[in-house]
Amino acid sequence: MIYFDNASTHKPFDCVVKEINLFNEKHFFNPSALYKEGIDTSKIIERSRKIIADKLGVQSDEIYFTSSATEANNWALLNGFKNKKGNVVISQGEHASVFECGNLLKSKGVEVRWVKLKNDGTIDLEDLDKKIDNDTTLVSVIHASNETGAVNDIKLIGNLIKSKNVKTRFHSDGVAAFCKIDCINSALRDRGCDFYTISSHKVGGPKGVGALYINKKINIGPFIVGGGQERGMRSGTENTGAIIGFSKAVACSCWVHSESEQQNNLARQIHDYIKNTLTQNGWILNGSINNTGYILSLSNPNIKAEILMRLLAEDGILIGLGSACANKLSQNRILNALGATKAHIEGSIRLSFSPLNTMHEAKIVAQKIMEKQKILQGKSIK
Ligand code: PMP
Repeated sequence: MIYFDNASTHKPFDCVVKEINLFNEKHFFNPSALYKEGIDTSKIIERSRKIIADKLGVQSDEIYFTSSATEANNWALLNGFKNKKGNVVISQGEHASVFECGNLLKSKGVEVRWVKLKNDGTIDLEDLDKKIDNDTTLVSVIHASNETGAVNDIKLIGNLIKSKNVKTRFHSDGVAAFCKIDCINSALRDRGCDFYTISSHKVGGPKGVGALYINKKINIGPFIVGGGQERGMRSGTENTGAIIGFSKAVACSCWVHSESEQQNNLARQIHDYIKNTLTQNGWILNGSINNTGYILSLSNPNIKAEILMRLLAEDGILIGLGSACANKLSQNRILNALGATKAHIEGSIRLSFSPLNTMHEAKIVAQKIMEKQKILQGKSIK
């Protein structure tokens, strides 16, 4: 099997699985328990929190574990805006877990202003500038698009927001960027970004755990009340094994550690090879050349991508059709926002890579796509 749908979910690294199994067998105790049977599980959680905080370049007590990035996004969007007054500005390029929060806020009477995307999949900075005013309490802009891989410059965006209104809070969904680009996140370190969301299963950790970075200076209420876990901000017995697995995946040497290394990394080589091969054969790149290197979105308006996906799956090659969440909504909201036609959207595929993939796999996949494409185009001509 060749798996090129890593942005949907990434296989847990072997070292992660081992670590979780060890924890579940030996150290399964409730972190809140007062007895410490050989090992203090609450300390293990704190060690994990520090690994993740270090990767982001922030302090440990600015990281809150959640059940998913979806929960972290809901927390930031629904609780994140000050006094629940004023307007909220959200980009059109957001994942459903931010986009639907925008719709929910709107249904509750909050003014939500949507910011346009440019053709390359990044946010339109002029439109963002126009939409922020004295009453803007929160802005949310995705760091890297889970659809196209296009990267927004969140440091620049943070500066722009604060220069327009120093009180406006800035949230960024970093799920498709975390561990892929700019590991020590200067926007967070310089406090231009107040909330940042990450997810474990996109970086080789287990499913069911994510985290929200909250700038220490920001006063925000708890999201879930109860037993007072996560410093009273997010109650519920910690998913300890998953948290440990998350930090193990983050610490894993498979991920790039600096932007300069990223120029040479394997995912980028695979991305560029397939992009170059297919764009010479009738495929159109969706999004920016400035992307993470881990996601490649291409369209061929002459074929139905869903049929292509099924034919490839019969040969053991798994690819995506845009994001998994977009599939559920049976339309591609992001490509739509980029001005794509129906045929372009129906002919769109999303390939997403991992440090576990190889160039050999890239060559097979490019070849197979071209073979299937010929069959499908032949059929559509008849
Ligand atoms: N944001 C982005 C950009 C994503 O790609 C995803 C997962 N598709 C999420 C948020 C939600 O992540 P989770 O599965 O952890 O809820």
